[in-house]
Amino acid sequence: MAAISRNYQSALGYKFNFIRFLITSRTNKHERLTHYLSNVRTGSCWFAANVFLYILILTSCGNVESSRSEFALGTVCTITLFEHGKSRVYDDIFNRIREIENIMSVNIPASDINSVNASAGTAPVRVHDDLFNVIESAYYYADLSRGAFDPSVGPLVSLWGINSANPRIPSRAEIRETLPLINWRNIELDTETKSVFLKQRGMSLDLGAIAKGYAADEAAAAARRAGIKRAMIDLGGNIVIIGRRKDKNPWRVGIQNPDGNRGSVVGLVRTPEASVVTSGIYERFFEQDGTRYHHIFSPSSGYPADNELASVTIITQNSMIADALSTAVFALGYEQGSLLLERLRGVQAVFVFKDRSIRTTKDANFILTDRSYTVSNP
Ligand code: FAD
Ligand code: MG
Repeated sequence: MAAISRNYQSALGYKFNFIRFLITSRTNKHERLTHYLSNVRTGSCWFAANVFLYILILTSCGNVESSRSEFALGTVCTITLFEHGKSRVYDDIFNRIREIENIMSVNIPASDINSVNASAGTAPVRVHDDLFNVIESAYYYADLSRGAFDPSVGPLVSLWGINSANPRIPSRAEIRETLPLINWRNIELDTETKSVFLKQRGMSLDLGAIAKGYAADEAAAAARRAGIKRAMIDLGGNIVIIGRRKDKNPWRVGIQNPDGNRGSVVGLVRTPEASVVTSGIYERFFEQDGTRYHHIFSPSSGYPADNELASVTIITQNSMIADALSTAVFALGYEQGSLLLERLRGVQAVFVFKDRSIRTTKDANFILTDRSYTVSNP
């Protein structure tokens, strides 16, 4: 058997900023610093002790920071407050992100989500409002995508271990045994008591495809509550932009080249205040015998979703919705995913295909920059 070649960054659970702000020379000092920070290359030492990493650039004023990065949610989270970035505001934003992580992470033993999973098939569990809201939304998008997006995908995620140090291809028998556990319809939600019941023993929730978006929205809300008018929240590629650029032009967000080095982009999305979220085959994966096994599963086959797409980027106002949709549309594939998006308002998308073609929804403001790709909108 060929040796497993591993994406070590993925093994470390680290997701680099695959979407970057591209900032022109006309932008102000804070924005240039953000650009610098988004280009900071980090090594594995960032992750060694599961302790946060902190990049801090102090401006002339003692308690004002232009940008701060910390390790949370299994990724590097960078907050950039373009004006009045008081340390206290950064603290509040990161505290909120950590609060959400403590509730929703399957990697934190005492989290609410782990209590729900441990009680699968036994008893409903009363959960924090944050978790209830996210599971309720996840249920909605599972329904909308007819299960292509399914928050009860936990047993498959564990079986393959793609986010772990020891990923492996399970046997067909293992997949056959696991598939009956993946069914969002077996999640029972009680809105009165805010409790969640997984009806079948062995079921487990995994909110990796939606909770980062929720955390990004909540981080943005914390910034707004502090009176921040212009900011960028980047939770490992889940981007939320607050406010307008100083020069009144649209923001420009680069879309990672799935075949390129980190930070190389296929093009730019131009957008006003919005969230931009990408799901792709290049973030977390392992390779065996020349085949790539990535982390977005088809809940019907039990294997990584195998279609023509390399990535899907969703642009919309709410980051949790963008996160859920990017995964759902990726899992559905281009045809079905586009049909789903046509039913929604205020949602734009950019599809990057494995054959280096790109398609966008009609209203997406996309500019191609890598000429080895072609835009082939129908
Ligand atoms: P997305 O497309 O948004 O999501 C893909 C992820 O969703 C997969 O990794 C899987 O977890 C799940 N998934 C796969 N297929 C489906 C499907 N069909 N429907 C629904 N969900 C699916 N990573 C670490 O390495 N270590 C950590 O400690 C860690 N803690 C985290 C804590 C929280 C609260 C969250 C939200 C994430 C955490 N992560 C951690 C990251 C997480 O494991 C995922 O890698 C990440 O959220 C994937 O995001 P994405 O945008 O790359 O892909
Ligand atoms: Mg997602």
